[in-house]
Amino acid sequence: MNHPPEIQLPGLSKPTLMPAYSALGAPYVTSVPTTPLPAPRLLHVNLQLAAELGIDEAASACPEFVETMAGNRAWPGYESISSVYGGHQFGTWVPRLGDGRAHLIAEIATPAGERRELQLKGSGPTPYSRFADGRAVLRSSIREYLCSEAMHALGIPTTRALSLVSSPQPVRRETLETAAVVCRVAPSLVRFGHFEYFYYRDDHAQLAPLADHVIEQNFPEFAASPNRYADWLGEVVARTARLLAAWQAVGFCHGVMNTDNFSVLGLTLDYGPFGFIDAFDSHHICNHTDEGGRYAYDQQPVIGHWNCSRLLQATLPLLAQKPEAAVEIATEILDRYPALYTDAMTRAWRQKLGLRDARDDDRELINRYLSILETGHSDFTRSFRNLARFRTADDALATELRDEIADLERFDKWLADYRQRLRSEQSDDAERSLRMNVVNPKYVLRNHLAQAAITAAEHGDAGEIERLFTLLQRPFDEQPEHAAYAAEPPTELRHIEVSCSS
Ligand code: AMP
Ligand code: MG
Repeated sequence: MNHPPEIQLPGLSKPTLMPAYSALGAPYVTSVPTTPLPAPRLLHVNLQLAAELGIDEAASACPEFVETMAGNRAWPGYESISSVYGGHQFGTWVPRLGDGRAHLIAEIATPAGERRELQLKGSGPTPYSRFADGRAVLRSSIREYLCSEAMHALGIPTTRALSLVSSPQPVRRETLETAAVVCRVAPSLVRFGHFEYFYYRDDHAQLAPLADHVIEQNFPEFAASPNRYADWLGEVVARTARLLAAWQAVGFCHGVMNTDNFSVLGLTLDYGPFGFIDAFDSHHICNHTDEGGRYAYDQQPVIGHWNCSRLLQATLPLLAQKPEAAVEIATEILDRYPALYTDAMTRAWRQKLGLRDARDDDRELINRYLSILETGHSDFTRSFRNLARFRTADDALATELRDEIADLERFDKWLADYRQRLRSEQSDDAERSLRMNVVNPKYVLRNHLAQAAITAAEHGDAGEIERLFTLLQRPFDEQPEHAAYAAEPPTELRHIEVSCSS
């Protein structure tokens, strides 16, 4: 017997609303309606995430869902809100930013009992839009949608993406484009900049309620601690250090590491002009707008540290009454970052090389390999993936291993040392290659792949979004039918420029 689909969204008996952020009220959040878009079209829905949220496939296919995800219809029982924050943009303090084009449309409990916030991006102007239009264009929405889920599948903490809706509504950027809305999902979207906003306005009394909310909802293990702010901030610093190591390990460049784009949960947040490195260049700058290279690949870990220093500055009033005492506590927390980062990074490189034991000279072996890749402009992702084919037992090398390498003489010397290092820990070739293939992805969201999906979608074809989405859910699997997606970009597509324009 065919039951009619159970439509959960319109009636909304479930998922259960769990408003906690909106309950903070002014001055943290303002109730702001979304602005409807004409003729919304659901380009993609993340069925797995929808299921985790308690939205079943039939519900996600109904017109009410599309309308809700377009911002054309409110989530039953919830008034959408936007929040105020500031931020250090490219090192300069900007006192007032905020959700200029984003609306929180629901706070829900998932069937597993976890609290999740749903936020639309590109859903119209808010009091924080300044002079901008509150919209997001299709190309940047596709990039955010695909990359959030690609990062999640890589095992990197990130905001998730539930849906991607397009509309013919024109949006003016450098040229005339069209609008789209992504629905992001996270336990919290509070940024470093939320705390900075109140700190620099000297509204220090506003810091504790926000921190208490973040801790109660997301760090319950610290809620009863007498040092709960220090405990939480220590955890943010640790998560940020680990996040940066995770980015470096897959060659991910964020592009706009402003403090307003940094999550107090240690999530990758705000996908703009990001990029995965193709030909390895440690100074790679993925954001065309970043002329000085502040956010270049090799600068990212340092900037992560600096951003933590801004968060700790902004939360000084929470740490102790006497400023000197607060600075002492904050400095101690901040000073943990370098070692935490280095530990996480060294562990990640070791795993990428398939090294099981930790030895003092591993860093030299890693750095020599990276240097060989850099001088030869070798493809970062492919070079690491190929290494899993290395065999210690026989001297005949898999040809793929050399494919990406320019300086073969140096490489052969390095391989001899690598072989010796592996043999010294009785490395088993087959077992090692299995371990390596779950840390060195075969597929990442290269710019030219995202661009192909964008171009097709701009011509009305969402098929490539679906293909990439599905492919990138299993980045470590071979998927031979999609081998072409693991190739280096063709020469003419190597320098696609992405900028802050979105
Ligand atoms: P982003 O560069 O996307 O991280 O945005 C920086 C700030 O500008 C945030 O406060 C955004 O909400 C705001 N913003 C960016 N683009 C727009 C837009 N089209 N309309 C309104 N606000 C925007
Ligand atoms: Mg932002």
